[in-house]
Amino acid sequence: MREYQQYIGGQWTRASADRMFDDLDPYRGTVMARVPAGTRADAARAVDAAAAAFPAWAAMPPAQRQALFLRAADIVERRAGEITALLAQETGCAGGFAGFQILTATRLLRQAANWGYLPAGEVIRSDVPDTFALALRRPIGVVAGISPWNGAHVLAWRTVVNPLAFGNTMVLKPSEEAPVTAGLLVAEIMAEAGFPAGVLNVVTHAPGDAVPIADEFFERPEVRCINFTGSSATGRILAERAGRALKRCVLELGGYNPLIVLADADLDYAVEAAAFAAFFHSGQICMNARKVLVEQPVYDTFIERLTARASALPAGDPAAEGTVIGPLITPAALDRVSREVDEAVAAGAKVLAGGSADGPCYRPTILADVPAGARIHSEETFGPVLVAQPVANAEEAVAVANATRYGLSAGLITSDSQRGFALARRIEAGVVHVNDQTIADEPQLPLGGIKDSGWGRSGPHSMADFTELQWITTRDAAGSFPI
Ligand code: ADP
Repeated sequence: MREYQQYIGGQWTRASADRMFDDLDPYRGTVMARVPAGTRADAARAVDAAAAAFPAWAAMPPAQRQALFLRAADIVERRAGEITALLAQETGCAGGFAGFQILTATRLLRQAANWGYLPAGEVIRSDVPDTFALALRRPIGVVAGISPWNGAHVLAWRTVVNPLAFGNTMVLKPSEEAPVTAGLLVAEIMAEAGFPAGVLNVVTHAPGDAVPIADEFFERPEVRCINFTGSSATGRILAERAGRALKRCVLELGGYNPLIVLADADLDYAVEAAAFAAFFHSGQICMNARKVLVEQPVYDTFIERLTARASALPAGDPAAEGTVIGPLITPAALDRVSREVDEAVAAGAKVLAGGSADGPCYRPTILADVPAGARIHSEETFGPVLVAQPVANAEEAVAVANATRYGLSAGLITSDSQRGFALARRIEAGVVHVNDQTIADEPQLPLGGIKDSGWGRSGPHSMADFTELQWITTRDAAGSFPI
């Protein structure tokens, strides 16, 4: 079992109070690592280091930054086996999702390597004679990243790479459930790639101790932006705090993602798409489908096939070959999912598949007739639970899909892609996939939510979030003034 240190100003350091905490394996319940229990003092040192590193990083020529990102991508690829093993041990992540995380991270790093060459502004005509006017993009300063445990590794990379590529420096606070794969491992790889000291700093903390670290982020003037991925409840707290502190915040939050299956769909394909969308990573991805809306004529056949498919998904040790359903992240998460399913069933929902725990895993579950009062009817479960609902037609499907406070991702399966495209444009979500399911991430595409699913977009479009636009004019001749 390894003992880790925090990464601040290019140094591996112990927590200022010299305390450690146990990082638990969610499948075995054993301690997989010992991690520093950082405090506000550590966050303060990390902000200092990021602020000190900012001027040189912001001024570094794009070719030099490019080389660093490309080296980091190569290291992620070289260390893929080790990352996969750590993701299984720390987050219960099975091989399929680990592969997705590693591939997406390397693609992100390789694409971000070129963002230093994106046009850095515009020349805009001025009406003032002899005046040349520019709108110039420039980095904003220190960005504080707060990352989650679910897509631990890829989301940590996304949290840091987007701001870094546009010339900002970072303090990353990973989730206490995944301090290694969502934080310290990223620091190790960036250190090995040769990123200068202070460009990325990682502060870890024991369960329940996020707030003092966030306090430091909000109270320090050097921190100009909070880049957060996590639940809508926490996002709301952070947005309120950011409002008071007048700091920017970028929020990638939860979803209640619908998958619509129209009557003309290829049902075999639709069943595969729904099984993947609902149960990949045991339903612990913000983009998992939470509700499948099926046009009435094909509902019974579709549900019968999906139920068989779900019940056959292999559950168990995430490190074992072929496992699809690993453990939920903590016993508390397992209790929450069990409680919410039981509550829906007590209120009249019918269990078509699953509906109970299997050790630290929860069986892939499909519920029908879920009453509107049950939490699962309209809130994300963060477990392998899918609500099935028949709809009379595509109009009703769109209406039900939009009847949620969330708006992250949606999928719509039909053999008529033109009709699918027209319907997609009416769905209130940041991402809609026609003839595909709800889970996708391509670094060049603008992933992000609307409504309670968040603000801001990842990828090159995040330039708007992670740069300031500065208006500069130069005047070639003296002008006149009205007083
Ligand atoms: P989950 O409930 O699934 O763990 P959260 O949104 O609570 O999701 O966690 C995502 C990240 O937000 C983690 O890094 C966690 O430590 C952090 N976090 C949780 N609560 C707060 C808070 N009040 N202030 C700052 N960060 C927080």
